[in-house]
Amino acid sequence: MIEVEGVRVDTRHWIGGERVASAATFTDISPIDGAVLGEISAGGAAEVERSVTAASEAFPAWAALPVAERSAILRRVADGIDSRREDLARVETRDNGSLLRSHRRGVMPRVAMNFRFFADHAEALEHESLEIRGHRERITYDPAGVTAIITPWNAPLMLATWRIGPALAAGNTVVLKPPEWAPLTASLLADITHEAGLPAGVFNVVQGTGPDAGAPLTRHPGIRRLSFTGSVPTAGLIAAAAAPNIVPLSFELGGKSPLLVFDDCDLDLAVDLAVEQFDNAGQVCLGAFRMLVQESIAEEFLARVTERARGLVQGDPRDEATDVSALVSRQHFERVSGFVERALADGAKAVLGGGPNTELGGLYYAPTILAGARQGSEILTEEVFGPVLTMQTFGDEDEGVRMANSTRFGLAATLVTGDPERAERVSARLNAGTVWVNCFFVRDLGAPFGGNGRSGIGREGGTYSFDFYCDIKNTVFSPTGWTGNQEA
Ligand code: NAD
Repeated sequence: MIEVEGVRVDTRHWIGGERVASAATFTDISPIDGAVLGEISAGGAAEVERSVTAASEAFPAWAALPVAERSAILRRVADGIDSRREDLARVETRDNGSLLRSHRRGVMPRVAMNFRFFADHAEALEHESLEIRGHRERITYDPAGVTAIITPWNAPLMLATWRIGPALAAGNTVVLKPPEWAPLTASLLADITHEAGLPAGVFNVVQGTGPDAGAPLTRHPGIRRLSFTGSVPTAGLIAAAAAPNIVPLSFELGGKSPLLVFDDCDLDLAVDLAVEQFDNAGQVCLGAFRMLVQESIAEEFLARVTERARGLVQGDPRDEATDVSALVSRQHFERVSGFVERALADGAKAVLGGGPNTELGGLYYAPTILAGARQGSEILTEEVFGPVLTMQTFGDEDEGVRMANSTRFGLAATLVTGDPERAERVSARLNAGTVWVNCFFVRDLGAPFGGNGRSGIGREGGTYSFDFYCDIKNTVFSPTGWTGNQEA
């Protein structure tokens, strides 16, 4: 047990309704100031085996529970999250350095909603009925079984619960492998599910590194669904590990999304949307980090974005006034620095920032805007996952669309224009799972979310989540009664 921001957090796994310690541990460090938060139980194949067994044993009873009863328990989990919102917010901020004000206002309410929304949705799920040649076909959503969920550190509780909610609502049991750079709120969630009366083994948490705890989970034959959020290289390893068991995969991966700004737009809005990309120090999968701006307004746009970004307050994320915090770890900091150094060496110019924040030191990387990067260079094509925006210009609509679509990713795109016909035309041509027109980040939980190309496999949200987490069954009834005719 450790105390973080006045909150007691159990450092052990949560398996089969019990706390389980491992002899091995990993050190959890806060990016805010490098403070050691604690030694966390580091699981491996043995803990994975135990948790998949617990989840398998809990599955039949949980799956057989009437959906209204399952949903009632999940609503109590949501209530528990609401009542511990401030604890969750403070611990998450300390653990991964994300802004406390964002957690208080947006993230933690959404975490509770991830349970409430899917509890409601499961109850309302339409069990479709079709007719063909007198036969009645009844389509039902059956629980699939043990679901493995593996999540990254940039928004750990939000990204975990947005899979745990629908998986449990569908009647599955879950083994969560939280990120080793920000494991703490998963442990608090385990406490909350227990207090809400979720039966033992329905939700399990195995902590540890990717290779030690994640990999054995992904190749375990007891897993019936695997939802992974993280980087492309890890996704490749996971796909290969899961392949022999033919496990359906949902992958939410990286991005290199464009902010496409046309000269007919509301410039104030375009500037606001650009500056918003520094949120979470740019550690956001769907961030629109590639500013693509029509030539006639490019100079004014860049000047205004730069001025606004210069005014962002960087510092401790626990301070409500802070806009940009630190990067999550030394390893990630070096990765981001490397991208910028290579871009500068390759001819790009830093219009703003371009290196660490030397006043703050530690893991604080200055908000950076790069212009003049070479077409096709890595800073324009690879995900940086830091507070680094690039600026490019285009002449006409065709060129803008071509540049927007010029990466192997396809997670999101943001389009700023004052012309509704252009909005229709351009959004239809953009390669992205989500296109925002004159807005950013807004999304209903019922809408599909996911990416094309290297940004992922599949969609989640609303019924799309149940399509993934369920075994969908079609039962065809003969029109002639139980002896049936065999006509197909
Ligand atoms: P990562 O791939 O390094 O790690 C993600 C998770 O996978 C961690 O829990 C890690 O321990 C685990 N893992 C690592 N190796 C593994 C293995 N061999 N087998 C099983 N599990 C393993 O990613 P990250 O650095 O933690 O997160 C950043 C990435 O996540 C970025 O690429 C970002 O774009 C992406 N992301 C995507 C979304 C989305 O919804 N599309 C959301 C947030 C983050």
